[in-house]
Amino acid sequence: MKAQPTASHFIDGTWVEDAAGRAFDVVFPATGEVIARLHEATPAVIDRALAAAERAQRDWARLRPVERGRVLRRAADLIRARNADLSVLEVLDTGKPIQETEVADWPSGADALEYFAGLAPTVTGETVPLGADFAYSIREPLGVCVGIGAWNYPSQIACWKAAPALAMGNAMVFKPSEVTPLGALQLAAILTEAGAPPGLFNVVQGFGGVGAALVSDPRTAKVSLTGSVPTGRKVYAAAAEGIRHVTMELGGKSPLIVFEDADIDSAVGAAMLGNFYSSGQICSNGTRVFVHRAVKARFLEALKVRAEAIRLGDPLDPGTQMGPLVSAAQVAKVRAHVDLALREGARLVTGGAGEGMFVPPTVFAEVTDAMTLSREEVFGPVMAVLDFDDEAEVIARANATEYGLAAGVFTADLARAHRVVAQLQAGTCWINAYNLTPVESSFGGVKASGVGRENGRAAIEHYTQLKSVYVGMGPVDAPY
Ligand code: NDP
Repeated sequence: MKAQPTASHFIDGTWVEDAAGRAFDVVFPATGEVIARLHEATPAVIDRALAAAERAQRDWARLRPVERGRVLRRAADLIRARNADLSVLEVLDTGKPIQETEVADWPSGADALEYFAGLAPTVTGETVPLGADFAYSIREPLGVCVGIGAWNYPSQIACWKAAPALAMGNAMVFKPSEVTPLGALQLAAILTEAGAPPGLFNVVQGFGGVGAALVSDPRTAKVSLTGSVPTGRKVYAAAAEGIRHVTMELGGKSPLIVFEDADIDSAVGAAMLGNFYSSGQICSNGTRVFVHRAVKARFLEALKVRAEAIRLGDPLDPGTQMGPLVSAAQVAKVRAHVDLALREGARLVTGGAGEGMFVPPTVFAEVTDAMTLSREEVFGPVMAVLDFDDEAEVIARANATEYGLAAGVFTADLARAHRVVAQLQAGTCWINAYNLTPVESSFGGVKASGVGRENGRAAIEHYTQLKSVYVGMGPVDAPY
């Protein structure tokens, strides 16, 4: 099998197999070819991973931050040197086109490792003058962190969680989605090669039950999940049972607002990136595109021409711009949404159901707020275009959702751009851009889209806890 890893799991610095775990196939979505067969982690494997992480974390936390950073920096360099091969593996695992994975997946993971490597030595506490006495604070690691990933950006998600966790002195046990289990194993091997001590970053495979076992284990101090809102609710509740820290990166139904004075070509380009990149399987996508009625015709005309020119095909071909969806289950879900949008009265501008594992870039116009397409996350290349007439109206409609992951505004009037963004209920906003998520800037959602932040300085707070130390400088004045 062309992508069979050495073993299913990576624990305590080495590959681990336990054939007693349920076997599952890894499929290249473009052809249906089975590229690897792995085993789900048994309770013994889970226990081994957590025990290894607990052991490794104690010594790792005692290193100077600059020494920890050096390991992460080396891992980033190794990833960059091997980006070509890693990107092919990512294509096989996810079905995304090689022209995307080569620039977006592992490279952004390497950025995260490099960024947090540099940030680690800058994390300090504060001193608090208290007259003759004083207090100081220390940012301490949490301990063993559990990372649970979704299937859409498997290697990037693993890096985005591992980098801040390890930089701050934690260890991690990571469970990828069983749909895309291969990239995280490579990260574990690369970190080990870069000098990470055995047990610092472990990968165990499995379905939701393995994630649930990790979340409820008493050795787990923190859980960072990227996934859907229903899974987020379950994982958050399970973590609450043990008063564990959480980061929840969940779904969205984000608005992208195009005002009448916007640069229409840029707005069309952004709407396409925010709906068709990765076959639309991106949580922060701007799937409700509100277009001012005055420019709607122009917007739709340009969009149709450009969407129909997108080249679908073999994701390993460098000329391919859009690959298949990740799984047959996801294809069925997306097609059901296309059918429902038609039945609910949306107008199909281009695209449709597609064939096999492929769904073409699809645009619906005359979508209303009440339609299912405006309310539910599709996670496929299906754009809903909605009309609007004025600013206050579009802000209210943009916010009328349980989600709050992201939002975008296109306008030439920068005062309006900032005024609108200030009122949008979203954790990540773009002005005259969309879906750019550089590691230097924090990322995350509000409302049902999540809690906590990844990336940027903000991530430090989600992988550390604060210790306050009061220092008495004189005799204790007790009244008894
Ligand atoms: P899921 O929510 O189904 O799964 C996410 C992960 O959680 C998987 O590894 C899954 O394992 C695991 N899991 C499922 N049930 C439990 C449980 N009870 N306890 C612990 N872990 C569990 O998401 P998908 O993988 O289907 O990914 C798509 C979703 O992720 C979309 O809805 C999207 O919006 C969201 N997403 C959010 C992002 C963000 O940053 N906000 C980024 C990317 C995706 P298994 O796969 O075996 O079920």
